[in-house]
Amino acid sequence: MSMQRVLVVGAGFTGLTAAIALGRTGVQVHVIDRVKEWAPVGHGLTIQGNALKVFKDLGIYDDLIRRACPEDNGVTLRLSNGDLLMHINTPRTGGEDLPPTIGTLRPHLHELLVAKAEEHGVTFQLGTELLDFENRGETAAATLSDGTQEEWDLVIVAEGIRSKTRAKLGISEEQASSGLGIWRGLAARTPEMDGEIFFPTSHDGGAYKAGYTPISDDQCYFFVLCPPIRPENGLEDWQEVRRLLEPFHGSFDLLRDTIVEDTFLNFQEIEWIFVDGPWHQGRVLALGEVVHAVPPLIAQGAAQCVEDSLVLAEHITQEGDLEEQLKAFYERRLPRVKGVVDASMQLARWEQNPGSSQGRDGEVLNAALLALTDPA
Ligand SMILES: Cc1cc2nc3c(=O)[nH]c(=O)nc-3n(C[C@H](O)[C@H](O)[C@H](O)COP(=O)(O)OP(=O)(O)OC[C@H]3O[C@@H](n4cnc5c(N)ncnc54)[C@H](O)[C@@H]3O)c2cc1C
Repeated sequence: MSMQRVLVVGAGFTGLTAAIALGRTGVQVHVIDRVKEWAPVGHGLTIQGNALKVFKDLGIYDDLIRRACPEDNGVTLRLSNGDLLMHINTPRTGGEDLPPTIGTLRPHLHELLVAKAEEHGVTFQLGTELLDFENRGETAAATLSDGTQEEWDLVIVAEGIRSKTRAKLGISEEQASSGLGIWRGLAARTPEMDGEIFFPTSHDGGAYKAGYTPISDDQCYFFVLCPPIRPENGLEDWQEVRRLLEPFHGSFDLLRDTIVEDTFLNFQEIEWIFVDGPWHQGRVLALGEVVHAVPPLIAQGAAQCVEDSLVLAEHITQEGDLEEQLKAFYERRLPRVKGVVDASMQLARWEQNPGSSQGRDGEVLNAALLALTDPA
């Protein structure tokens, strides 16, 4: 195998899974991240079956499921007054032996990925940025913020949607607003709260929809989808979230009351990007959210990133010409990722224009997920 030494830039889900998938085959992998330390707290994450399949392959599934809440029962859609709209049985995108989705905390998954990477000999260097790179034929030289410059067989740029390296790779696409904003938080959950999404009957309150995913027996991760600009209404975060949730009843009557001053909350504008030109230049490859990121309306963002990693490792650890391998990798990934981007952006447009979907949301969501039951 000609691939001996790989630098991975970014220790998010993309970089970490790429590091494990390569490290376990004997490739020497070094991971850098600009963060100075791992974040100890974070939000919930819905992980679909196709991502669970990747985690099973990488050897972390059993530990992951121990700290997660499987959602075998799918998700229930309701009007904000609590009336039932429909129940969706989420397709098993990872196969019949895996749950359709699970809910967990981001730091749990991150911790397991770092530990597994270390088990395979991957080395980490935090507080370090990639500043520049230069392709030198059979290698790429990476200049880091610690003042070093070193040559690598491949540099994987897994810097996320706001990557600064993307443009240097000749990629002209930039991240853009999806037109949506989102509040996320952690709240208490009773055993009956099984995963629900509520749609408002009027949009005066400002929320497009609200939902929650169980992440343990007594906790859930909730979100409120809304316009991308936070109104300047003088309210503190917890008060603003309670205001947005005011029209939502059923489980949200209980959930809303548990949101207090020190509840872990965060608001962000949701951006997106899709790069349909080449993802690499010479020995430097952009991976994961650097080249495809979507509003989390079918919860496939991280799933597509980790699929990238596994498929990439499959291609580049074979004997052969790297240029051909990277091209084959890109051609294999593009249609699958595009399906997720198209469906997510269609749903995002409908969210912003209530009523415009004419009830086709469920159909689009289901079709997108069913397509993912095919292997990555
Ligand atoms: C609101 C929201 C909710 C979501 N919910 C879900 C969900 O429920 N399920 C799901 O599957 N997906 C979800 N996603 C998508 C998912 O979070 C992302 O797809 C995934 O985290 C992207 O991983 P990544 O590793 O590509 O990027 P990131 O997680 O952004 O990691 C990039 C890393 O690179 C580092 N970095 C950046 N630049 C440099 C540099 N120059 N040098 C060194 N380090 C650098 C950063 O510090 C960071 O650690 C959601 C996304 C959003 C916005």
